[in-house]
Amino acid sequence: MPKSNHTNQADLALGMNQPIHRRDFMNSMMLGSGAALLGSTTPRQIMATDNWTGYGGVGDYARSNGNTFEVINAGHQIRDRVFEKAPPKATDTGEVFDCVVVGGGISGLATTLLFQQRNSKLKCLILENHPIFGGEAKRNEFIVDGHRLMAPQGSDHFGLPRPGTFTEKFYDSIGLDLSKFQYQTWSGPTPEVPIGRSFEFIPSPYGLYFGSRFGQKPGMWLIDPWSKKLEGAPLPAAMRAEILKYREGPASRAPKTPQLDSMTMEAHMMSFGLSQETIRTFFTPGPGDGYGLGPDVLSAYCGITGGSMNRGSGQNSLSFPGGNDGIGRHLVKTLIPDAIQGPWTVESIYKNKVDFSALDQPGQTVRIRLGSTVAGVEHEGEPSQSKFVSVMYTRNGRVYRLKARAVVMAGGSWTTKHIVLDLPSAHRESYNQFHRSPCMIANIALRNWRFLYKLGISGGFWFEGLGVFAGVRALPTFSTELKTIGPDSPVVLTQKVLFCRPGLTMEEQQNRGRTEILATSFREYERKLRDQMTEMFSGSGFDAKRDIAGIILNRWGHAYASPQPGFFFGKDGKPAFRDILRNAPFGRIAFANTDLSGDPSHVTAIEEGQRAADQLLDGALKG
Ligand SMILES: Cc1cc2nc3c(=O)[nH]c(=O)nc-3n(C[C@H](O)[C@H](O)[C@H](O)COP(=O)(O)OP(=O)(O)OC[C@H]3O[C@@H](n4cnc5c(N)ncnc54)[C@H](O)[C@@H]3O)c2cc1C
Repeated sequence: MPKSNHTNQADLALGMNQPIHRRDFMNSMMLGSGAALLGSTTPRQIMATDNWTGYGGVGDYARSNGNTFEVINAGHQIRDRVFEKAPPKATDTGEVFDCVVVGGGISGLATTLLFQQRNSKLKCLILENHPIFGGEAKRNEFIVDGHRLMAPQGSDHFGLPRPGTFTEKFYDSIGLDLSKFQYQTWSGPTPEVPIGRSFEFIPSPYGLYFGSRFGQKPGMWLIDPWSKKLEGAPLPAAMRAEILKYREGPASRAPKTPQLDSMTMEAHMMSFGLSQETIRTFFTPGPGDGYGLGPDVLSAYCGITGGSMNRGSGQNSLSFPGGNDGIGRHLVKTLIPDAIQGPWTVESIYKNKVDFSALDQPGQTVRIRLGSTVAGVEHEGEPSQSKFVSVMYTRNGRVYRLKARAVVMAGGSWTTKHIVLDLPSAHRESYNQFHRSPCMIANIALRNWRFLYKLGISGGFWFEGLGVFAGVRALPTFSTELKTIGPDSPVVLTQKVLFCRPGLTMEEQQNRGRTEILATSFREYERKLRDQMTEMFSGSGFDAKRDIAGIILNRWGHAYASPQPGFFFGKDGKPAFRDILRNAPFGRIAFANTDLSGDPSHVTAIEEGQRAADQLLDGALKG
């Protein structure tokens, strides 16, 4: 049989022709393997010839899955200095705001809330490049067999705050009623399989999958690996012993001291007896997961027992079905009550539609302008004397200009350094030392998850191929008419894809990951996902053709802040480079976004935003 027939038959077996929720591709057959073409076809060509963004789901977020083709194009114009080389003729909107916030993620929204809390007369505008607010805290929505299902695009869970903390007061200020978080109860057969509330916390027993990298053909699942003390794992006995000793040893109780910032996580883990080979085989990304890379390049100060995503939080993690989109929606409802229809309840804020027309009305104190990519921010005249900042942005292919008395840059290091045109070189140099790692979140809507149940798990981890882990989750009952869950329930399996290549520098790992994200067509990723799930789960009854109801890809080129050694406390006797951005505004421009904290979390996004707003209110906006 000719090779192409083999390929077609394999595709048919994987269900590549099934009428699921995706988008079909005119030119995808011409593209073949994205990886194979990397040498001859540029990412730009693939994006231009293929429907790269893919299906975006239904509902408010349908046109905003990750960084879409349009968002990336607008961003790359900034990176390529298109506006500096040939300054466009911009239409002056004639508007003057007290404060413009660049970036409508959690940080930008929280910045604006603080401005309003301290002075409700201030006129604020948020400029956000995506078709909806939320940044990394957005959702995907599917309709599966008549049921509306949601899943996170990125930022996922939050911790139950301790009484009296900043976080608890903040949740109160946006009316986030935590008592409403009751989760689906079990309605499946006995025995019950534990299900997490977040795809990132897969409860025990979970599974570890070992494939051809470990000499397993076919691959094998080791279920409940810690109760079994890794018995049956196809790892050398010495490696197994090392891992068990490390897990049971003092590493988890090691104090977090500034000294740790002078070394990588890997060096720190090795000081507890792990070999480099074990770390790169078994613990990558491991504790680096919440920072987007592995221990080989991250600062040990990030913590070797897992990310500190919800600093200041108590015991339990909670999650909206679409992740921290729920926090973003509560923030928007607080800033512009008409933006989400219905009463002030968690259920209505979460389920009702966004009224996009209410976001940007003249006369409102807070306005949110979506689909607007800021391309230039600059003081009018000498920064220390200037009264205004000029802000240039693109929207629907046109260029606009407006004025602000103050600006908060909450979009993130990778864009801020390009768009603040009069940024002093020391600030620019500081931003050049920030690293953001790519990540892709694949949401796979399933008609049932019997194949996981049969294995006795609701999620698992693996060490090769596409992605690092995936899990299904129980939903809060306010979000769905499905009040119970069992293996026959429709669910979304959320899979995290990181791009760790231990041994390369942090920058090389990130650049290669971004190139892969850009250069791989939707169809190629769909094929890989189906292939991998078939390899891992067909033994327990999974049929890609029958069970997959939809796929949404959320590609984030600059997802996680990834702090290198020296990020937190400086290096070689010099202060931390981020201090210059946090200690004081530059003229009328202050800096926010979670990446300044080095701890990617909605809490730090809020803290950094509120610090920036305070600095301007006590400085440029005083009086
Ligand atoms: C996969 C993933 C999972 C995560 N999980 C969690 C979790 O479970 N819990 C948790 O607390 N945190 C989590 N995080 C961390 C997350 O970064 C923060 O929670 C938070 O969402 C960051 O908010 P932010 O506003 O600082 O940045 P962002 O969410 O990145 O928002 C910045 C916004 O500004 C926009 N922007 C940038 N440049 C411009 C420009 N020039 N013009 C206009 N707009 C611009 C961006 O497109 C974006 O929409 C996760 C992150 C990722 C990537």
